[in-house]
Amino acid sequence: MLYKVLDKGVYRDFVKALISEYEFIGPKKKDKSEHDFVLIKDISELDTNYMRTTIPPAKKILFPPNEQLVAYELGENINVRSVVESSKKILFGINAWDINGMNFLDEFFTTDFIDENYISKRKKLIVIGMDSEPTETNFSPSIGAEYAKDGFDIYLTELKNRYFVRIATPKGNEILEKYTKVNDAIAEDFKEYNKYMDNYRMKFKMSVDIKSFYDDFESIYDNGDFWKKIAKDCYSCGSCNLVCPTCFCFNVKDDIELNLKNGKKIREWDSCMIPEYGLVAGGHNFRPDKENRLKKRYRCKLKTFIDKFGKYACVGCGRCIEACLAKINIAEDINLVKKEVSI
Ligand code: SF4
Ligand code: SF4
Repeated sequence: MLYKVLDKGVYRDFVKALISEYEFIGPKKKDKSEHDFVLIKDISELDTNYMRTTIPPAKKILFPPNEQLVAYELGENINVRSVVESSKKILFGINAWDINGMNFLDEFFTTDFIDENYISKRKKLIVIGMDSEPTETNFSPSIGAEYAKDGFDIYLTELKNRYFVRIATPKGNEILEKYTKVNDAIAEDFKEYNKYMDNYRMKFKMSVDIKSFYDDFESIYDNGDFWKKIAKDCYSCGSCNLVCPTCFCFNVKDDIELNLKNGKKIREWDSCMIPEYGLVAGGHNFRPDKENRLKKRYRCKLKTFIDKFGKYACVGCGRCIEACLAKINIAEDINLVKKEVSI
């Protein structure tokens, strides 16, 4: 890691240069309370002073909601070819918990199998991170995800009259050398940066007691009444999955043209919270109850990948809490598990 500082006086020219040279994706104001990561053509569209994005930026780019995987033609010969689309992009202004969410997806899509569609996009993505204000539902410090130590090329932290710059890759260094001027960070810069981080962490109002969840969860796993109470208002709508930066389930379906000769295979985001998720051939459903689905979702988020990758499949972003019409709150439920076990 290299540590530099970028003067605020040259920041705008740096960003303008990147916008003109690259396909540049960054946060843009959508309405009063929300931003969306979109293609930015002019610096006036960019608004890095954001709090809320519903769809996680990295997931949207690397694992889009709809994606063609295969094209095929049926004739005398059957012709099948894989479709892998990718282009060089800059993802600018993504915050630490969403970088950590992307790091989880990186691991998932390269462990056990290499997902070419994901990884070809990831290899071409230049990531420039920045902090954003947390929403009231964000509990990422409890998960250790409010700070990103890798997964980016450059990370900019805004101090009084300069940016504290962390450079994690040679690519990041090359971009800074080519498009702007930075100076080595000195002791004073580190001091101000550390003070900034201390204050930043104080802005997160929600917290969870996650330390003993791994064991507590097992002791409550078969307590049907507990899970019925937690899931009683769930509509099985799947919104919590769709907005989650680490949810990776997808379905593959065929889209065949009317001539019945040409077709494609497409993958679409799936949701473990909808009843059809567990429906298999013969009409059997291995996960018919909503309380069972919610319980399994919590296990996936907070236990399964501790065993597999040594990390949570949750970065504490709070999006699922905000998206849930039934007001089901993963943070409150983590604390409830602890409370129930302690009684
Ligand atoms: S927990 Fe909430 S968002 Fe998730 S499926 Fe149930 S109602 Fe929908
Ligand atoms: S489970 Fe909820 S809080 Fe955790 S990363 Fe997913 S959307 Fe964010």
